[in-house]
Amino acid sequence: MSLANGRNYLAIPGPSVIPDRVLAAMQRPAPNIYHGEIIETTRSILDDLRRVARTSGNVAIYISNGHGTWEAAITNMCSRGDKVLVAMTQHFGRGWAEWASAMGLEVETIDFGRSSAIDPARIEEALTADRSHSIRAVLMTHVDTASTVRNDIKSVRAALDAAGHPALLAVDAIASLACEELHFDDWGIDVMVGASQKGLMVPPGLGFIWFSEKAAAASNEADMSTPYWDWTSRTTSTEYYRYFAGTAPTHHLFGLRESLTMILEEEGLETIWRRHRALARAVWAAFEAWGKDGEIALNVSDADVRAHAVTGARVGGGGASRLRQWLEENAGVTLGIGLGMAPPTEPAYHDYLRVAHMGHVNAHMTLGALAAMEAGMQALDIPHGSGAVEAAAGVVAREVEAFRVGR
Ligand SMILES: *Cc1c(COP(=O)(O)O)cnc(C)c1O
Repeated sequence: MSLANGRNYLAIPGPSVIPDRVLAAMQRPAPNIYHGEIIETTRSILDDLRRVARTSGNVAIYISNGHGTWEAAITNMCSRGDKVLVAMTQHFGRGWAEWASAMGLEVETIDFGRSSAIDPARIEEALTADRSHSIRAVLMTHVDTASTVRNDIKSVRAALDAAGHPALLAVDAIASLACEELHFDDWGIDVMVGASQKGLMVPPGLGFIWFSEKAAAASNEADMSTPYWDWTSRTTSTEYYRYFAGTAPTHHLFGLRESLTMILEEEGLETIWRRHRALARAVWAAFEAWGKDGEIALNVSDADVRAHAVTGARVGGGGASRLRQWLEENAGVTLGIGLGMAPPTEPAYHDYLRVAHMGHVNAHMTLGALAAMEAGMQALDIPHGSGAVEAAAGVVAREVEAFRVGR
């Protein structure tokens, strides 16, 4: 017998859970793409995408996933032969660096390992050493979805300023947008990329890029842009089709319209940031209890730099893979694989997993996933400390109370 029947919970860090309302909004005939509602809807989406990023700057939409937006950012910012500095905090930073390198740029990397955040002092040092200002952009990931580290964007901005360096600050906010506190304008970001299938709760297929006036000016001097990825035509055209370099992604736009209403008009961004933090704390409390016995540990030991949208952990002895499989087969919960922590060919690969708490997720979903994990550990004889579910429930109770009394 399996207890997996019922509504499945895909607790991986993207695609995240799609609200029924978003799916329902997409369930309609194709609209006229030459005039009428879709044009007005797109206009309101562009305004709301600025609100989600807390910017009055520019935003372009691509029919693409997150990887496409990496390419979009590079083609618009850079010229052939330019150099970029990449601050890596695991898989996704490395991915963007590889992209830049494959596109012919000179890439300098600083690797902060698999469980620590960016040290801004090292960024400042690298920029200060670049006396000729040959570094065009600093690329960083806000939340690295693999290590589950959250980097401090403000401190990297401060490092650029302290070095007096004119490089653009480019941020991958794919995993953090609409999950974590994020202020494009106030934090001095120049270019930022996002995607539809994480905090925005829409199926994969839309990529976004926000850019400052400084970045817009830099792109006019840069020579790598190509017709599809060029952000200028996507933000300044008078003809609607140019915003998408072709047919608009009509149904994704209808879904996104609904999710942006849920985010901005109903729950509110600040409440959403807080919900993600509360659920993250519940997950951490469970892992801390489990970790009192056996080989279980959170990947990021410093709670101040842990992501609020996804939590990476080690369950040694191959326990992570066994547990994931058990949960999927028996409890209807799918956890994320441990990305980039060990090569898939090595036994250690099976020691890592990630629990997502990203997007359309509430207390019962997170507590349910944790209780199911507890059941799986018992079923599989994975050594673990006791009291995890109780600890997580206690966090939820305290967080709700703190919110109620306005703390
Ligand atoms: C998911 C993710 C990506 C990749 O997005 P795709 O849509 O899979 O191409 C890049 N960066 C971060 C931080 C992510 O979380």
